Parts: sequence; structure tokens; C-alpha cells
Amino acid sequence: MNIILLGPPGAGKGTQAEILVEGRGMVQLSTGDMLRAARTSGTEMGDLVAGVMDRGELVTDEIVIGLIREQLEKGGSGFIFDGFPRTLAQADALANLLDEVGQSLDHVIAMEVNDEALVGRIVNRAKQAAAAGQPVRADDNEESLKIRLMEYYKKTSPLLGYYHAKGQLRWVPGLGEIDEVAAAIAGVLDA
Ligand code: ADP
Repeated sequence: MNIILLGPPGAGKGTQAEILVEGRGMVQLSTGDMLRAARTSGTEMGDLVAGVMDRGELVTDEIVIGLIREQLEKGGSGFIFDGFPRTLAQADALANLLDEVGQSLDHVIAMEVNDEALVGRIVNRAKQAAAAGQPVRADDNEESLKIRLMEYYKKTSPLLGYYHAKGQLRWVPGLGEIDEVAAAIAGVLDA
């Protein structure tokens, strides 16, 4: 089974992906994590994406599609796409890539949250990281966050209509406790 976790920044996609990896042995493909790894690798691509990410903008479709292609070509199944696709072009590319490797998409899980909760969560994440002496993400500040939210509404939220039209969209409430959200997602996967 291959799924997409779709939702604005701070919706809890990464947290839920982790639960699915542990509980079901699925494979998380987070373009955010891949890009954060790339930016510390000293490669040209890393330098290219660092500024864009820190501002809260989207990196180019070409780069993220390339990263996902690399992973899919390694084989396997049971993928959780986390933070990808974020544009309609990426969604089309994903459909083609899955087709090429003989896989398909089973569910697109949309996490329903409200903006105030998102801002609170992200500000909290930054505070907790700082308090624990851990690195704070450079894009977890109010200015980048505004841009990240706007990027989401402008470029990513159209995917809700796209996947609805394909009959693949499943809504889950994203605002509950972590295990409540996990249970809602499990309900979709086990239906
Ligand atoms: P968030 O916690 O905001 O959902 P991620 O960790 O998924 O963020 O991604 C962090 C940043 O990485 C994004 O703001 C963007 O700059 C870049 N990024 C991640 N995935 C994509 C993608 N699919 N397309 C374009 N940019 C991406």
C-alpha cells in the first residue's frame, strides 16, 4: 500500500509517518528530510536549496521529483509520501513514477487542521528544541512560517481537488491527540 500524507506545515505529517513506519513497517519518504540532509552535504544542490528553504519557499519541482525518483528506483513498496507532492506538477510526476515502477497510490490522507493551531505548534516545536539544546529549524520562525502557509494555500491545497476528483482523498481530523489521529488514519488504511 502506498499513501500520501497531505496537510499544511505543522499538521503532524512527520509524527504520523513515524507511527506508520513503526507499526506497519511502511517506508517514509519525506522530501523535507531529504532536502535537510542535502543542505548539510556540501553539494551544489544543498547550497541551492538552503536559502529557499529558510525563506519558507518551495524548492523546484525538478529537484524534489529527482529525489523521489531516486528512492522509487531502489524498489520496495509501502511508501508514505510525506511533504510530497506539493504542487500539481509533482502530483503528475508521482503518478508517472509510480506507474514506471509498477506501483500505484492507494490513499491520499488529508489532515484537517486550523491555521492558529499550526502556528502554535510550530512556535512550540522551536521553543522545545531550543530548550533541549537541539537545533531549531531555520524556517521555524514567524516570517518563514507565513510564507510556508501561503505556499501551501497557493500551490499545495489545489491537490485536494485533484485527488478528490481521482477518488483518492480521505479526510482525517488532524487536531486531536496523536493517538486519536493515528487511529483515524488506521481506520482509513484498514477499511
Ligand atoms: P513542513 O514542516 O513545513 O511541512 P517540510 O519538512 O516538509 O516542512 O519541508 C521543509 C521545506 O523543504 C519546505 O518549506 C520547502 O522549502 C522544502 N520542500 C520540502 N518538500 C518539498 C516539495 N515537495 N516541493 C518543494 N519544496 C519542498
